[in-house]
Amino acid sequence: MLRSVGFAFLILLSQIGATMEERMEHGYYKYHPMTEITSWMQQIVREHPSLVSTEAYGKTFENRTISLLKIGERTSGVEKKAIWMDCGIHAREWIAPAFCQYFVREILQAYNKTDPKMREMMKNVDFYVTPVLNVDGYIYSWTDNTTRLWRKTRSPGPEDCVCFGDGGTDLNRNFDALWGTVGMSHNCCSLFYAGAGPLSEPESQAVTEFVGSRKADILCFLTIHNYGQMVLVPYGHPNIISPNHNELMEVGLAAADAIRGVHGTSYTVGISHDILYPHSGLSMDWARLVGIPFSFCLELRDKGQHGFELPEEQVRATCEEAYAGVLHIVRHVHDKIFCRSGAVAITATTTTLWTTLLVAAWVTGCTTAL
Ligand SMILES: [Zn+2]
Repeated sequence: MLRSVGFAFLILLSQIGATMEERMEHGYYKYHPMTEITSWMQQIVREHPSLVSTEAYGKTFENRTISLLKIGERTSGVEKKAIWMDCGIHAREWIAPAFCQYFVREILQAYNKTDPKMREMMKNVDFYVTPVLNVDGYIYSWTDNTTRLWRKTRSPGPEDCVCFGDGGTDLNRNFDALWGTVGMSHNCCSLFYAGAGPLSEPESQAVTEFVGSRKADILCFLTIHNYGQMVLVPYGHPNIISPNHNELMEVGLAAADAIRGVHGTSYTVGISHDILYPHSGLSMDWARLVGIPFSFCLELRDKGQHGFELPEEQVRATCEEAYAGVLHIVRHVHDKIFCRSGAVAITATTTTLWTTLLVAAWVTGCTTAL
């Protein structure tokens, strides 16, 4: 009898333990190693089974799985559009994966608090969020102080590559977008080594295949980096310009305004070759070149004081302000497709604005929260 009571007690304890583990609050204002990010992804799927699923869409050089979270209402018979976001393409930019995690929490919280705009967007759009794209590099950057500033992948480079720092390819020079022309290196030891050829790396191949096969449905491509406090628009190469350049700039400038409105942080907006430097093989450029209408790269805090080693005390504020900027972009992209009348109404004169918006909302069924 005693033995069976003790056994039951043990079972109860293990159940409580499991429940506590499942409900354990994820720390959104700190940096997490890859194992914790993977567990967090599983936890998010468990907690929101009707809204979130995970999808493995590629393997890294070291044969690790690259996964994303797909977030949106499952609506049968309705063709949904999508928004792409990847973080952690450069290993040492730890604030980027932290932002992706924060972004996922915020949109889910907004949805669950019945924010009408978020509900509407999740009906029309799926968010594809990759918290860590360069998984091998990210894990390597967590090894110790000597590897903390690792940027590239962990592929060894060409056979004759001998350098202090173990090779690796800069994934954001490896995409098939005017590959190998400017702002990169063919020296395998360089931080900006573009790889043996366009898409020589399995990680850039995975993104190209996944996004490329859905390019007609992807409205917006967002890639998150640090540092510099910038909203960058295509292209890195100085000889080409996007057909919708003016609109990209308008949306980018408004996103920077939204960012400034949160903590007063100032972001510069511009073409990447202009305000950064000319470069090629960028994922943002590739996305725009294959026809995804909106493509942005965000360079999060700071402006160089701490650089890639942004202190954890700044994670919260950095994520809060960046979220406001991204939300502005996402809303614009969504409303342009799904609330056309509302978009026209915004240009109406101020005297008739509210009336017009109300009519537009009624006509389109869109929530025109500004
Ligand atoms: Zn970067």
